Amino acid sequence: MIRVRGISKTYQMGNTLVKALDGVDLHIPQNEFVAIMGPSGSGKSTLMNILGCLDQPDNGSYQLAGEEVASIDDDQLASLRNRSIGFVFQTFNLQARRTALENVMLPLRFSNCPKVEARERATQILSKVGLAERAHHRPSELSGGQRQRVAIARALINQPEIILADEPTGNLDSKTTEEIMNLFHHLHQQGQTIVVVTHEDEIAQHAQRVVTLRDGKIKEDKFND
Ligand code: ADP
Ligand code: ADP
Repeated sequence: MIRVRGISKTYQMGNTLVKALDGVDLHIPQNEFVAIMGPSGSGKSTLMNILGCLDQPDNGSYQLAGEEVASIDDDQLASLRNRSIGFVFQTFNLQARRTALENVMLPLRFSNCPKVEARERATQILSKVGLAERAHHRPSELSGGQRQRVAIARALINQPEIILADEPTGNLDSKTTEEIMNLFHHLHQQGQTIVVVTHEDEIAQHAQRVVTLRDGKIKEDKFND
């Protein structure tokens, strides 16, 4: 599903070079639930940006769903990303003027899905995340946890092979965090592959596997009991 071999990424900051990633190897098979941990500056965002095809490594290879990401053109890359990856963010990134249902339908507008079918699928996914009765509310009329459920529904709408979630509970209280992690757990049990970045141990405990970065290298890679 995800196969990363020997990737590195260096940033230039004035006269100094910052090695954000330094020889990372990572294989994430289908239907794994992985937490990426590590202190601030350890390379988590850089790795997520590469996994999400938003950025490319300087060295090494990245295969996503069998495709060598570096060797395909921009159009193919955009299509691979739309098809394969659902993004979930700390700040939800919902459109304020659209209802929950319209937000969830949005990714389908780029895939020529007929509107009736888009509406039908978005309605189904909203009920899958427990929000059927909030379909016509705007984000401002929803709680933080409900907003993140909408964002997760939007990430699921194209039936992506992988969900990439960057600090998805960073703006939520502990009870709501628990609810969202239970939702991920539930999606994982239904076969969804999920990668979550977090700096909180408690959140990582919900995952099946925890990969810890330090100074751009994998320091530990273990399975939870
Ligand atoms: P984390 O997400 O674990 O906090 P990052 O991947 O954001 O780590 O950063 C890893 C290192 O790379 C840090 O030292 C950071 O300052 C640096 N870095 C990340 N992105 C950039 C960038 N666009 N320009 C310069 N330095 C960057
Ligand atoms: P977090 O630690 O929450 O993952 P960061 O604050 O490290 O996030 O980074 C947020 C964004 O800013 C990332 O996309 C990263 O690539 C970029 N970034 C991080 N450090 C730098 C830097 N020194 N210069 C420019 N951009 C950076």
